[in-house]
Amino acid sequence: MDGRTDIRSLRHYIGGQWVDASGGATFDVLNPLDDSHYAHAAKGTADDVRKAVSAAKEAFTSYKETTPTERERWLLRVAEIMETRQKDLVDCLIDEIGSPVQKAMFEFTKGLTMIRAAAGMCRNVRGETIPSDRPGTFSMSIREPLGVVAVITPFNVPLIKTTRLVANALAVGNTVVHLPSEMAPHLTVLFAEIVAEAGVPEGAYNVVTGMGAEIGDDLTGHKDVDFVTFTGSTVVGQHINEICAKNKTPNTLELGGKSPTIILADADLDKVMPLAARSMFMFAGQACIASSRFYVERPLYDEFVKRFAMIVGKLGMGDLRDPNTVIAPAISPRQRDRIKTHIEDARAKGATIVAGGEWVGNRCQPTLLTDVSDDMTVCRAETFGPVTSIYPVDSYEEGLAKANDTEYGLSSAIFTKDIDKAFHFARNSNAGMCHINGPTIHDEAHVPFGGNGESGVGREGTDADMEAMTELKWVTVQL
Ligand code: NAD
Repeated sequence: MDGRTDIRSLRHYIGGQWVDASGGATFDVLNPLDDSHYAHAAKGTADDVRKAVSAAKEAFTSYKETTPTERERWLLRVAEIMETRQKDLVDCLIDEIGSPVQKAMFEFTKGLTMIRAAAGMCRNVRGETIPSDRPGTFSMSIREPLGVVAVITPFNVPLIKTTRLVANALAVGNTVVHLPSEMAPHLTVLFAEIVAEAGVPEGAYNVVTGMGAEIGDDLTGHKDVDFVTFTGSTVVGQHINEICAKNKTPNTLELGGKSPTIILADADLDKVMPLAARSMFMFAGQACIASSRFYVERPLYDEFVKRFAMIVGKLGMGDLRDPNTVIAPAISPRQRDRIKTHIEDARAKGATIVAGGEWVGNRCQPTLLTDVSDDMTVCRAETFGPVTSIYPVDSYEEGLAKANDTEYGLSSAIFTKDIDKAFHFARNSNAGMCHINGPTIHDEAHVPFGGNGESGVGREGTDADMEAMTELKWVTVQL
């Protein structure tokens, strides 16, 4: 299936077999740059989901007995094969979801790290010995995999999310049913090909492509699904949370954000500016941890706005394969409408558009807004596009209060030389992640990644997933 002009035909991967959707229906995947046809994929049904869960459940019986060495070897082999298929994966990230090549390469490199970090988990599925009040009793906890893990991933960082969540689930002995975003099925199918080639046992990893809104509930509400990990919008996350609550299915939810950055008067703008641009405009703001709110202490405010406008005016909007290109197309007509509505609403209510605001094809220019007030949609809602607001503040305390004035709580950042204020912010930011003198966009395989409030429930990352995707069992031996 190599060659970008080929018509790709994507199938489910269930029980180690490549299969069409029951009933044979397919759906089209479009290249977001120009809406040209990119692929068509099996349009999964409830029946396909049931088959995939059944295959994962059956495989679990033997997969949970595999040794750490075996699982480690499979995962490291996945990473090796990924390296040989770098071009396929990077091309897919460019043409399927419109990633500029530098973002695609970032994602590819990060994905490799995710897999290798997961391989390191295999030997660390540990319990502990526990003192007992009963004489002659040896007491311990053992950590066991849960069973079938449902992984649901979004379009924007499909390789990072797939590598992290699938590999972490497999590393600790679970089997997986994966429902990728309907806008990024090819990336997951490529990953499944790699998993198959690496020799991961049949049925341990299953992929069903299709419309999440149609078949998602069949997966998350299935009685044989033992854990759900979802990354996507807050609305869908809330819905999944309710389904999981009904079945008492444990879950992690990684949802939307409205992440703030505070810049205090003592910050060094030479250092701040490139990081500010990166924290908002990487992948054109289609990042959950993008900084869509900047609070700048008044002495730096005018200079910050001026420099930010200059920088964003120079962000590349050319060929996605040009390493200087930063600005990506917005993924879908629905998403383009949302971005346009947010900008127009702000404009109509009196915001100043300091930079951007116009469209070139499906790409929105990087857009900076000032004079944003609370009644504007962009002030509180996630835009998920290249639009950010800059607000002046008179003090650190005002910045902190405004940063926390949100229903979301994903990432946050502060730039200052004042260690007391920096640490005060780290302790008092309501976000799940806080970066001092660094951008809100930051992720590593082993850190506790996740948010509070409307941004989600639970954390992911090697240690956090080890906790979440396994259960402790108490065992005693009477000697
Ligand atoms: P989305 O919620 O529209 O879709 C995400 C996934 O959910 C897709 O695979 C979709 O098919 C599926 N889905 C839809 N309805 C479902 C249902 N009823 N049951 C199960 N699955 C269902 O989100 P999106 O537009 O793909 O991604 C953008 C959103 O994701 C943004 O809000 C962004 O902030 C968030 N996000 C969060 C993180 C994080 O780690 N916190 C990372 C990336 C993206």
